[in-house]
Amino acid sequence: NNNKTIRSQVTPVAGGDVWSGVWVIIEYTNGKVAPVSWELLGEGRKLADAIGCGLSGVITGYQVENVIPEAFAYGAEKVYVIDHPILKDYRSEPYAEAITGLVKKYQPEIILMGATSMGRDVFPAIATKLQTGLTADCTVLGIDPETKLLQQTRPAFGGNIMATILCRTSRPQMATVRPRVMAMPERVDGRVGELIQEEFTLEEENFRTKILEFISSDARSAFLDKAEIIVAVGLGIAAKRNMVIAEELAEVLGGTIAGTRGAVEAGWLTHDQQVGQSGVTVRPKVYIAIGISGAIQHLVGMETSDFIIAINNDPEAAILKVANYGIVGDLFQVVPALTAEFKKR
Ligand code: FAD
Repeated sequence: NNNKTIRSQVTPVAGGDVWSGVWVIIEYTNGKVAPVSWELLGEGRKLADAIGCGLSGVITGYQVENVIPEAFAYGAEKVYVIDHPILKDYRSEPYAEAITGLVKKYQPEIILMGATSMGRDVFPAIATKLQTGLTADCTVLGIDPETKLLQQTRPAFGGNIMATILCRTSRPQMATVRPRVMAMPERVDGRVGELIQEEFTLEEENFRTKILEFISSDARSAFLDKAEIIVAVGLGIAAKRNMVIAEELAEVLGGTIAGTRGAVEAGWLTHDQQVGQSGVTVRPKVYIAIGISGAIQHLVGMETSDFIIAINNDPEAAILKVANYGIVGDLFQVVPALTAEFKKR
């Protein structure tokens, strides 16, 4: 191992106005890293370059050594590690305490994490402890060229506007970012950097929450998150019995069914199949939108798909403006015709 390793003890020091560097909190649970962590290292690289500072990854958990080379491979120059048995399974209290201690000691200017269940839980707790601002669920990040502040953009007012938020007075600047919105960076195996392993004192009796049992939920939305071809339906499909039209197309293409909140509320799909602001963000190779109007709350969850095909009988539908191919026509004719054509190939 060529990494330069430093072992140190977290002893938070208050004061000192030097906040520098971009940090990405790498989410590692049940032996797996949430891919958004790597997406954020890619994005963090751009932000760090725009400011002219370093990029670090932070890994908290238990027995995390396998993750360290990956963090370097995805672009971290420094990796901070807190490896502790208390952090084996995620709980907000010990995680918030560990990360807050690290932030106080090293004073990064910006910290980012995925807007996953864990990020949405632990980041507000950390921001409260640090008495700083947090922008949740960002879809765009940038650096203000004049002030070098982090521009944190997210849908606001029910998705009707995109708000850009700056954290002017407190540090660090904190944001969670939706999975699959940022591109996955190139992985360069064998890349090395500086490894800082913190010896951290965490006492079980200080934490009020205990894990009694794990009950796993239906993993369909996790599956949707990774689907390469998505066939999505909206209210245009008109009735549950018509879902078969979309299902046949999905079957021919090896795709996964998803849809709009309208389709979920109509009872044709379950909530974990909902794409959009209050559902899952997806980034498949192909997204086929059938009878979907293209409300902003839907678009934010799918517009970064590689290739979008939309079928709608209204030439003014907003979905057609983000589509690579728009087919203006009756879905009850167009979709079976597409299915028949794909079957031939
Ligand atoms: P509609 O807007 O009714 O569109 C149906 C489309 O089908 C129309 O464009 C119509 O032209 C077309 N159509 C009808 N018949 C045919 C036919 N025979 N052939 C072809 N085309 C046809 N929505 C989401 O999807 N995801 C979210 O996460 C989400 N979160 C939200 C959060 C908030 C806070 C709010 C306020 C709203 C949210 N919404 C969300 C709802 C969103 O605003 C829209 O209401 C919803 O996306 C519309 O769903 P739709 O496109 O299925 O229906």
